[in-house]
Amino acid sequence: MPKNELLTGMNDKQSEAVLCTEGPLLIMAGAGSGKTRVLTHRIAYLIQDKQVLPWHILAITFTNKAAREMKERVTKLLGPSGNEVWVSTFHALCVRILRRYIDKLGYDKAFTIAGTSEQQTLIKNILKTLNYDPKTYSPRSILSAISNAKNDLLTPADYIAKNANEANPFIKVVGEVYQAYQKELHQNQSVDFDDLIMMTIQLFEQNPDVLQYYQNKFQYIHVDEYQDTNEAQYQLVTMLGKKYENVCVVGDADQSIYGWRGANMNNILDFQDDYPNAHVTLLEQNYRSTKNILKAANSVIQNNEERKDKNLWTENAVGEKITYYRAQSEADESRFVVTNIKDEMNKSGYSYGDFAVLYRTNAQSRVIEETLLKSNIPYTIVGGHKFYDRKEIQDILAYLTLLANPNDSMSLRRIINEPKRGIGNASVEKLAQFADDNGWSIFEACQNIELNGDISGRARKAIDSFGAVMTNLRSKIGQLSVTELTEQILDQTGYLAALKATKTLEVQARIENIEEFLSVTKQYDNAHTSEADNDALVDFLSDLSLVSAQDDIAENTPEVTLMTLHAAKGLEFPVVFMIGMEDSIFPLAKAKTDPKELEEERRLAYVGITRAQKKLYLTNTFSRMLYGRRQTNMPSEFIDEINPELIDAVNSNGKANSGVKTPFDTRSSRNARFANSSPYRSPAKHIGGPKQTGANKQAWTVGDKVSHKAWGTGTVVKVEGTGENMELDIAFPEPTGIKRLLAAFAPITKE
Ligand code: ATP
Ligand code: MG
Repeated sequence: MPKNELLTGMNDKQSEAVLCTEGPLLIMAGAGSGKTRVLTHRIAYLIQDKQVLPWHILAITFTNKAAREMKERVTKLLGPSGNEVWVSTFHALCVRILRRYIDKLGYDKAFTIAGTSEQQTLIKNILKTLNYDPKTYSPRSILSAISNAKNDLLTPADYIAKNANEANPFIKVVGEVYQAYQKELHQNQSVDFDDLIMMTIQLFEQNPDVLQYYQNKFQYIHVDEYQDTNEAQYQLVTMLGKKYENVCVVGDADQSIYGWRGANMNNILDFQDDYPNAHVTLLEQNYRSTKNILKAANSVIQNNEERKDKNLWTENAVGEKITYYRAQSEADESRFVVTNIKDEMNKSGYSYGDFAVLYRTNAQSRVIEETLLKSNIPYTIVGGHKFYDRKEIQDILAYLTLLANPNDSMSLRRIINEPKRGIGNASVEKLAQFADDNGWSIFEACQNIELNGDISGRARKAIDSFGAVMTNLRSKIGQLSVTELTEQILDQTGYLAALKATKTLEVQARIENIEEFLSVTKQYDNAHTSEADNDALVDFLSDLSLVSAQDDIAENTPEVTLMTLHAAKGLEFPVVFMIGMEDSIFPLAKAKTDPKELEEERRLAYVGITRAQKKLYLTNTFSRMLYGRRQTNMPSEFIDEINPELIDAVNSNGKANSGVKTPFDTRSSRNARFANSSPYRSPAKHIGGPKQTGANKQAWTVGDKVSHKAWGTGTVVKVEGTGENMELDIAFPEPTGIKRLLAAFAPITKE
């Protein structure tokens, strides 16, 4: 492909960024201006026109999904050589480096990566050992303090030294727990997510030859979403880029939304100080959204004081106005979303995959989920990690992890008595003591149980046979594929047999999940068909532990996507609903008193609005049940910040609201422009009664026969509520069973 084809359709500024290959480059640009696209084309250009070897190029993305997409796009532009480019997240990059060199830090190359639940268990155990009350010192807060310390590259010793004069007991406890936590992780040959980056930096600091190797390897470095890098990530990029200084970072300071997790917006703002000879390219044309959506986004973000003003414009159509709906309740809000998904599909030919519903906190997904379920609309929740959180999947993963890394006593503790083998807690503690006394892992203690004088009877026999089964399975790593190994675990440990012995529906579901897991292993095996190698298992487990929120997004299956605003970064959808746009929810209550936090919330609103390509809906509710409490909130101030001319406020009929004034209109607002004239502060007026869709506008009674396309003929067994609120319990033939559906939305007809 000749060079100019890579530049086809690019605007001047985009082309400039693609062509500027030597030296540091900063691409600062607003949402949807093609930053990510430019990165992809730049990589292709480097290989194709500058004859840079693909393995000399590194690209760091924010999620694995983005990495996969970028790799696919590069391969599409270049052919198979695109596969040789290292495109990955920070974490995956570090795993790859550590798998090769972590022994230099005294760790086993088969180290495992501790997930959130293992981290929590460890912290709880440590608090118990150190005699601290987990109610006073919440494991979550401690973990987040440890995570912050690691993101700032503070070891336990650094942390303790830094806070030597600190009177706050919490900080003292964190120091102590942090030290014990690292020790435990090391004993388990396990590292947590933040360790991945911090340890890679330690590796480089202590082994200049290793650093040099990677500096020579990565001659061209790219980082997407640079505004959300933390101190550790910043250091890593700086170290790697030191030799060639071909560091290209792209980002948008207005989209910095991870300050609460240690991200530092100054990394992007100070790039020119770090690299005085940096070339800076500003992209100002947005290709994603309509004029109205972009204007709304601009009018919100300009209320931030800590920012450089920029002029983001688009040649796209003006588009429709933004629809705003103030609902009566959270159920009403969800119904509004569902009605409009259906209407948009009828009107514009969208499919389910074209819609995203965004919210501020995960807890808000439940109500919308229920409504989608009852309306028979397929959806996916990003970041829920529903599947991998299941007990049976965690169990199997613990078995596999233990096989890969016998030092991982956390995994061993999880499954030593799963299925029940008669090895109670007391025996496990004795076993752990026995391991400690001999300087072994608990797994080695199992293998040497005959030397133990403390444990007797059934537990001893069970430990012995557990050790033998696992030792035998371990000897097969390298000969069997991951799928075969998993099948043998299920069989030889008695795990599957124990499940099958229980004939409940719940267990049936567990078995199905295990089958689903086997399809994951098969997929992995098929993609790695080279000779069965020793690293396949370790590799497979790394892949799984790096699964990130956005990786849950179903590709090619038309499903509505539900996710938090944070998870939506970098993505785009034709139609976006931002729900729960109310004070104390978004912005969060605690941000109201902290100007810095409020600005981060506003950036989050900017991220949300700019995800929409064609149509944006904003909703909130007059009163809502959240966290078990009913609350009444004002509409979000971010709605007030949008020019009213861009907004179409509707009632539940979809008709324009006349902007009826309510007592709320007089509240003082930080934004005097709209304080007394805001049309958005009135609860919806239900003028024409509930809206119903054609066929379902009928009265239902118990005993009615119902026809459903997928589930067949059912019988109504219960009717609750009226109008749009009417819910039906319908008994369908097995295996469907009883389903609760919203009469107005479900695809059912009366027979
Ligand atoms: P974000 O800030 O949200 O990460 P971004 O700046 O990375 O956005 P991209 O995702 O790269 O923007 O691009 C936004 C959309 O605009 C994509 O659909 C992309 O394909 C399209 N796009 C970018 N540049 C052009 C162009 N020159 N011509 C046509 N479409 C473009
Ligand atoms: Mg992007």
